[in-house]
Amino acid sequence: SKWVYTFGDGKAEGRADMKNLLGGKGANLAEMSSLGVPVPAGFTITTEVCTHFTQNDRTYPAGLEEQVADGVAQVEKVMGARFGDPDNPLLVSVRSGARASMPGMMDTVLNLGLNDTTVKGLIRQSNDERFAYDSYRRFVQMYGDVVLGVEHHHFEELIQDLKDDRGVDLDTDLSADDWKDLVSRFKARVEEELGRPFPEDPQEQLWGAIGAVFGSWMNNRAVTYRRLHDIPAEWGTAVNVQAMVFGNMGEDCATGVCFTRDPSTGENVFYGEYLVNAQGEDVVAGIRTPQHLTIHGKQLHGSDLPAMEETMPELFNGLCDVRAKLEAHYKDMQDMEFTIQSGKLWMLQTRTGKRTSKASLKIAVDMCREGLISETEAVDRIDPAQLDQLLHPMLDPEAEKDVLTKGLPASPGAASGKVVFSADEAEDWVKRGEKVILVRVETSPEDIGGMHCSEGILTTRGGMTSHAAVVARGMGRPCVAGAGDIRVDYKAKTFTVRGRTVGEGDVITLDGSKGEVILGSVATIQPELTGDFATLMEWVDGIRRLRVRANAETPEDAATARKFGAEGIGLCRTEHMFFDPKRIIHMRQMILADDEAGRRKALDKLLPYQRQDFVELFEIMQGLPVTVRLLDPPLHEFLPATDEEIDDVAQAAEVSPETIRAAITRLHETNPMLGWRGCRLGVSFPEIYEMQARAIFEAAVQVHKDTGETVVPEVMIPLVSSKKEVDLLRAVIDTAAKEVFDATGASVDYIVGTMIELPRAALRAAEIAETAHFFSFGTNDLTQTTLGMSRDDSGPFLQYYREKGIYEKDPFASLDINGVGELVELAAERGRKTRPDIKLGICGEHGGDPASIGFCEKNKLDYVSCSPFRVPIARLAAAQAVL
Ligand code: ADP
Ligand code: MG
Ligand code: MG
Repeated sequence: SKWVYTFGDGKAEGRADMKNLLGGKGANLAEMSSLGVPVPAGFTITTEVCTHFTQNDRTYPAGLEEQVADGVAQVEKVMGARFGDPDNPLLVSVRSGARASMPGMMDTVLNLGLNDTTVKGLIRQSNDERFAYDSYRRFVQMYGDVVLGVEHHHFEELIQDLKDDRGVDLDTDLSADDWKDLVSRFKARVEEELGRPFPEDPQEQLWGAIGAVFGSWMNNRAVTYRRLHDIPAEWGTAVNVQAMVFGNMGEDCATGVCFTRDPSTGENVFYGEYLVNAQGEDVVAGIRTPQHLTIHGKQLHGSDLPAMEETMPELFNGLCDVRAKLEAHYKDMQDMEFTIQSGKLWMLQTRTGKRTSKASLKIAVDMCREGLISETEAVDRIDPAQLDQLLHPMLDPEAEKDVLTKGLPASPGAASGKVVFSADEAEDWVKRGEKVILVRVETSPEDIGGMHCSEGILTTRGGMTSHAAVVARGMGRPCVAGAGDIRVDYKAKTFTVRGRTVGEGDVITLDGSKGEVILGSVATIQPELTGDFATLMEWVDGIRRLRVRANAETPEDAATARKFGAEGIGLCRTEHMFFDPKRIIHMRQMILADDEAGRRKALDKLLPYQRQDFVELFEIMQGLPVTVRLLDPPLHEFLPATDEEIDDVAQAAEVSPETIRAAITRLHETNPMLGWRGCRLGVSFPEIYEMQARAIFEAAVQVHKDTGETVVPEVMIPLVSSKKEVDLLRAVIDTAAKEVFDATGASVDYIVGTMIELPRAALRAAEIAETAHFFSFGTNDLTQTTLGMSRDDSGPFLQYYREKGIYEKDPFASLDINGVGELVELAAERGRKTRPDIKLGICGEHGGDPASIGFCEKNKLDYVSCSPFRVPIARLAAAQAVL
C-alpha cells in the first residue's frame, strides 16, 4: 500500500480533501502545490503509519522505508540538492500534522541533515559561516530536545554560559565561531545526558525525527489537547518531510504568519506579522517583536516599525496574490505561514484560520454577501460554542476603570479574576472555587490546562499570533498579549507596571477587545444583538424546524429570552417564585400545616402573588405559549432552619414553635430527590395544585381581557410515573379552570401535559398520553433517574468515568443518547401512537446543547427549551441539525 505522498514543483499526489490520510498540513501543502503556489518540495507520511506505529510497538509497516527513500529522491531532484551531500546538502524539516489543527502540540525539527561535514557544504552554498553554524546549533538544539529528550534548559544554559564567557548580552553579538563552539558544547552535553553521541548520519537523524513525531501523538500535551477538544486518539498524525527554505540568511530574507482577513474583527483586510532575517517559529515564539505586513495593520496597532508593504513591496504583492488565490479557492479565511529566502517567496502552510466569534460571524456574513458561499454554508460555519462568546457581557464603557496598562487585543471579551502566575496554580485556585486571571511572560503548550480554567490570560511578551493569543482565541478566553510595560516577578508572585505592584490574589480585569489591563473588577453590559448577528439569525430561522423556547420564571429572564428570540417558555418553575422573603413564610406555613384548612389559609395568601407572576409572564410573552410546571421540589428545600425562621413561621401560622419543630422532624427525608416531591405533592394535597391552576387561569383571563392577546397556558405536571396520577391531577386543574371561567364569564384555551422524567413514565407513555396533551422531557431528572446518578453528587466521580471513557461526556451536560435517548425515543413513539398530534419538547440543560439538539431534531420533537442566554445557540444548532 501507499504510505508516502509527494508534493512540490507545481504537482502533488495528495489533495486538500485527503486530510484524514495526510493530516491538515500535508493535505494543504499538496493542494497549494497543485494550485501553483510556491511550496518547497516534500512528502507526507500518512496517518495510517501513525496508527500502525502506535499499535505495533513503535514499528513501521512493510514498504515504508523504500517509499521514504523514493520520496527523498524526488525532493532531491526538485531541489537540485542531495540529502547528506558534503557539497550541496539537502536540508529538511520534519513536521507533524494531524487531521484537526493542534497548534503547538507536535514539535517540528528544522535544518535536519546537518552534521560536521554537510555544514561545510551549507557554508559554501550560503557564503555565510555564521548563518550555517547558527542553523546547525538550532538543529542540534531542536533535535536534542524534541527527538532525544534532552531538556530545553540544558541548551539555554550553555548559550548563557557562552555569552558570559564572551561578555555579551544578545544572540546577535555571537560570532560564527561562537555558534560553532556551541555546536560542540551542545553535542557534548547531549552525550553526557544520554551516554551516546548525537547522531551524525542524516538517515539516522531523519528516522529519529519521524519516530519522534509519531511518538509525540501520545505525549501528555497532545493527549490533554485532544481531551479538551474531543479529538479521538485513533486519528493519528501525519509526518511531513519538506525541503528547508531559510528566512534567516540575510536582510533579504524574512519569515511571517498572515491571515487573509483580520482574525480579530473579521474585517476583509490582509493581516499579518513578519520578522526580517529570522527562522520559522521566531514569530510565534514572541522572542522579537514582529512587524506588521500592511500599513493598515501598523496604524491599527500603533507600531513604529515599517510594514512589509513598505520595505518589500514586490514580495508583499506576491503574497497578496497568494492571499487572493487561496481565499477564492478555499472560500474561507486562511491562516498562512511564509518564508522569504533571498528575495523569493515560499508558502509553508495554509489552513482555515482560527478567529474570534465576532470575526467568525462577520466573515460568514460577508462571504455570503460577496457571493463566495451560500446562506446555508454561512450558517453551517458558525460554531454554536463560539456564538456563545458573542452573547457574553462586555465592559460597560461608562464604568470607572483604573487602566494599569495596555497590551495587544489578542482575544475579545472581558473578564475579571484573581491574579495567578502559573498554569498549575490556576488549576489549584479554580478547584477551590476561585475565578482567576493567568498572568505569564509568555505561555507554552504545557499551560493549556491552566489557560482553559482561567477567566482570562495576560502575557507580557508575544504578538497577535503568539501561543497565548492563538490558544485563547480558540478557547474563547479574553486575552491581552504582549503587555510589554509589565514586569513579572514569578518568585515574589507579583507584577509591576509603571511603579504599581499587583500581587497574587489581587483582582484585575482584562478587556481582550481593547487590550486593556485594569485594576479591580469592572461593571459589564450585554452585547448588541443587531447587525451581522441579526442577519445570521434570520438565515438560521429560515432553516430550522425545531422551535426554541426558554426556561424562565422571572420577568427579567422572560424579557431576555424574548430578546434572544425565544418562541415561548418551555419551563416556568413555579417553586422559584416562592423564595421571596414575603412569600416563603406562607410557603413554610403551608408545608408545615397540620390539616387542609391550615394549608388553605396559607395558600390563600400565596394566590395573589402567584397570579401576579403569571400576569407579568403572559404579558411579556405576548401570546407565545407558556408552560407552567406545578410545584415540584422536595418540601424540605423550603423548611425553616434557624430559630428565627421557625419563630416567624410559628407566628404566621398561629401555632407554637414546638409544633413547627415537630413538623420539621416529621418531614425530614433521607433521599429528598426521590421523596415527597413533584406530583406526589399534588396527590397528597390537591389544594396546592388547585391554587396554582386557579392563579394561572385567573391571570390568563385577565391578560386576555387587558391586552386582547390570546394566552395559551400549558399546565405541566411534574415527576409523574403513572396515568392515574395524571388523571387525578388533570381533574383538579380542569375543575379550577371551570370555576375561574364560570366566575369571570370568560375563558381561554389551555392544555395539560406532563414531564417525562422517570423511566416508568417513558415506558407507560402510551397510556399517559391518553390524558396528557403534551410531554416535556425533563432530561436532567431523566438522566439522574435512568443512570441512578445524583446530579448534585456525581461531579467528583464522573471525572473518573470520563477519564476511563465510560461516558465520553458529562451526561448531565450532553444527553446520553444511547441510554436516556432511547427512553426519549420510545416515549415519543408510544405517546404519538396514542395521540398523533401530541406536542413533544425537552427542557433541562440539554435543551441548549448542540449535540442533544441534533438528537431532538432526529426524533422530530417539536421544541427544545433552554436557559435564555443559550436561546441563540439553540436556534443555530437547530438549523445546523437539519443541514
Ligand atoms: P506548527 O504546527 O507548530 O506550526 P510547523 O511544522 O508549521 O509547526 O513548523 C514550525 C515552524 O517552522 C513554522 O514557522 C514553519 O513555517 C517553519 N518551517 C517548517 N518547515 C519549514 C521549512 N521546510 N522551511 C522553513 N521553515 C519551515
Ligand atoms: Mg510547533
Ligand atoms: Mg505551522
